[in-house]
Amino acid sequence: MKPFLIDSHCHLNHDRLRETGGADAMVASAKSMNVQGLLTISCRIAQEYDTLTAIAARHDNVWCTVGTHPHDADEPAEVAYSVDDIVRLARAHPKIVGIGESGLDYFYKHSSEDGQKASFRKHIHACIETGLPLVIHARDADDDIIQILKEEGMGTNPSLKAVFHCFSSGAEMARKGVDMGVYVSFSGMLTFKKADELRDIARHVPLDRLLVETDSPYLAPEPHRGAMNQPAYVTHTATCLAKVHNLTSEEMATITSRNFFNLFDKAKDTWVDPFHQAA
Ligand SMILES: [Zn+2]
Ligand SMILES: [Zn+2]
Repeated sequence: MKPFLIDSHCHLNHDRLRETGGADAMVASAKSMNVQGLLTISCRIAQEYDTLTAIAARHDNVWCTVGTHPHDADEPAEVAYSVDDIVRLARAHPKIVGIGESGLDYFYKHSSEDGQKASFRKHIHACIETGLPLVIHARDADDDIIQILKEEGMGTNPSLKAVFHCFSSGAEMARKGVDMGVYVSFSGMLTFKKADELRDIARHVPLDRLLVETDSPYLAPEPHRGAMNQPAYVTHTATCLAKVHNLTSEEMATITSRNFFNLFDKAKDTWVDPFHQAA
């Protein structure tokens, strides 16, 4: 099959995307740049489940997740979802291919540390139950992330799979994660001029663990830095990652898309080959 890219983490329902035409326009623009797959990520189950599943349902090769962002971990409507609820919601829709984004964010602390930890473990348990991978958001909480993952069986329980999304932590976190089987996804930050340290970390992540993402509408890569980000721009991050690994952009596209389907393997069930559409 021809090489193509997948944006493994975007927020197609975000208010800011209305300025650029909304989710449908963003999907069309991505596909015109050969970004053939998109995973749109849940932050609040109560508010987003219907919207995200509807976006995923009306586009080929757009998938979504179910889960609560660490920022929103203390929200009563989110606390109310049990492991069983998340499992049921995840199984209810063929295009829900992952759980999250969950994790810990001690930089903003929009929710309490205890609330975030409880929510993180709840999501991990839903992953083990469903076999779906966890999308992990980590900021200023590396030690707790690693410790909780270890306690919950990451690396020993084959049902537990995960990705560090928008990786921006240190080399040690990357190494410990990779040792436990975690995938590492790089965003537009990789392309920033001063990101030599991050590029060095990316160089040491094994090829079979690499993913690319935009986290749009945040963090537009160079040369769009400062503008609103969109899934089409994942091309810049992938090109940068290819250079870091001394590969061609096509080779890196093939590698990261293969990794995407290895991790989010439920997405294979609904994959529509974009190069074999009826003439
Ligand atoms: Zn995040
Ligand atoms: Zn996100």
